[in-house]
Amino acid sequence: MAVTTGSERARGALSYLRRKISTGEWAVGERIPIEPELADQMGVGRSTVREAVRSLASMGMLETAPGRGTFVRSASPTSSLLDEFLADFSLEEILSYRRALEVEAAQQAALHRSDEDLAALEQATIEEVGCSRCPVLSLTDSGEGAFDSRFHRLIFDAAKNRLLAALYAGINDQLRTPQHRGRLANVATGAEMERDHQRVLEAIRKRDFIDAVHAMVDHVDHDVVIVNDQQEVVPPLARTPEQQQRIDDVRDGRPAIV
Ligand SMILES: [Zn+2]
Repeated sequence: MAVTTGSERARGALSYLRRKISTGEWAVGERIPIEPELADQMGVGRSTVREAVRSLASMGMLETAPGRGTFVRSASPTSSLLDEFLADFSLEEILSYRRALEVEAAQQAALHRSDEDLAALEQATIEEVGCSRCPVLSLTDSGEGAFDSRFHRLIFDAAKNRLLAALYAGINDQLRTPQHRGRLANVATGAEMERDHQRVLEAIRKRDFIDAVHAMVDHVDHDVVIVNDQQEVVPPLARTPEQQQRIDDVRDGRPAIV
């Protein structure tokens, strides 16, 4: 009979919980089951569950709110070191870096995606049909707990590059901080988002890493933009009248990102 040591059980519990989060079975912003339920599911003691939850919290993937429960904070590990590092940079610098990550991830996803990755991306594309805009930086009504677009996150999973995924999670956290959020506008309509995501998906399906890059560049150039103090829009690209209207809303103090 196999003997399971305490540290093996702890590692098993950690990878069980981590998988639930990274596969999106537990979505970002969602509350996870309570400790006794998890202990039952995994067949381990409550102290083992507590230890695993604490480890994931230190990685930035879970967050415990006293009296409310434990929530998924990020689908991949983030570091408080990264948070502090990014806090020194301007919104323009951070958004430009986010663009570079999205484009690189799209190319890597086209090269490295598995059939399971493709199926998950197809599912996410279907789920996001009908959204009023790309939920890449969506916030809950209270503006607190945030949830990501599963489509964008899954591209990072398909890219099979943990560093890209970790940096992306850190960047998204930064963009959601109050000092940055009010200056961002999400100018792509739901229909534009669906068309863009479909094109990225198609390129990843065909393993066309060149079109994956072009499709993602087109998408990130209008999904989230900045309205700066000089009333300029970054990046300064051509916009439809509807997109311009949403930018004007932000200038007038009506943040268009939800
Ligand atoms: Zn998107």
